[in-house]
Amino acid sequence: MITRSPDLLQSVIPTVTDEARDWQTQLAKAIRDPRDLLARLGLDERWLPGASQGHALFEVRVPEAYLSRIRRGDPHDPLLRQVLPVTAETDSVAGFVSDPLEEAEHTPRRGLIHKYHGRVLLIGSPTCAINCRYCFRRHFPYAENSPSRTQWEETLGYLRRDPSIQEAILSGGDPLASNDKRLAWLVGRLGEIPHLRRLRIHTRLPVVIPDRIDNALLAWLKDTRLQTVMVLHINHPNEIDDAVIEACKRLQNAGVTLLNQSVLLRGVNDEVATLAELSERLFSAGVLPYYLHVLDPVAGAAHFDVPDAEAVALIDALRTRLAGFLLPRLVREVPGEASKSPL
Ligand SMILES: *Cc1c(COP(=O)(O)O)cnc(C)c1O
Ligand code: SF4
Repeated sequence: MITRSPDLLQSVIPTVTDEARDWQTQLAKAIRDPRDLLARLGLDERWLPGASQGHALFEVRVPEAYLSRIRRGDPHDPLLRQVLPVTAETDSVAGFVSDPLEEAEHTPRRGLIHKYHGRVLLIGSPTCAINCRYCFRRHFPYAENSPSRTQWEETLGYLRRDPSIQEAILSGGDPLASNDKRLAWLVGRLGEIPHLRRLRIHTRLPVVIPDRIDNALLAWLKDTRLQTVMVLHINHPNEIDDAVIEACKRLQNAGVTLLNQSVLLRGVNDEVATLAELSERLFSAGVLPYYLHVLDPVAGAAHFDVPDAEAVALIDALRTRLAGFLLPRLVREVPGEASKSPL
């Protein structure tokens, strides 16, 4: 898929010190203040009141590696729009609620959501490396859902007792925001469950901080007997730079199957040309488009909503432009359904 030689890939990685490249340091240094975010991007102070209002509801978090892909001085940059809070977040809009997926109903153990046949979703980490303004978990009670080792034992017991479960899905927050010691332990324990075939990891970290894909992470990925799928969450082609392509290459070399899911977002990726370019760039990085989700109706994100008719028209237009395997499935999550629902 990627035809560039490793040497050539090596040459595109900027030479930086080990300290600067360490993902935990990068995460700790992420921008968490709306004023800093505006200043770093050369944006006018007139965006500050809105940014501060949104920040009070769901804090700003943007690591440097992601910030570097945002165009300076452009308040409409599609990556900026995903991370800069705006006044519209304080609007109360009918139908946009705090737990749109009614996940609280499906949590038989702390940090575990079992809604679909054969697959169980585990909340691997309470935090994220980036705070996306459209996030359907922006009101999620993470403090109550960050399992300790004892709670993990309970979760593992639940998986062991149900032989219909073939796939464990690590979600979050972002599961890769956990340290590798914890993850190696958990994945080791999951591998001991005989009926489990697959480990799936939903994460935005390889995109937000590509240096997260380091040797410590690759070690446990290579070690597990479980087939491993990583679903990246990339919404716009500008999110895929050389460092991201290189991180994807490392994951592929470790035997990981790479898929992507996006959220259809007003003002970010609600155009045919953008979605087509996203699919093409994903595939160049060895990633197959999987889902294009319509927005979950979460309070504070209504300004990102794209009406269904428009979403269907977009995917129909995309179908006439792309190879069949580059077309994501347009879906929504309907509480109580046994799978994601196609539109
Ligand atoms: C989306 C989701 C899954 C995975 O569904 P797939 O269609 O297999 O990608 C599993 N569990 C929950 C709770 C989900 O929301
Ligand atoms: S990375 Fe995912 S879970 Fe985390 S804030 Fe963004 S959309 Fe939400």
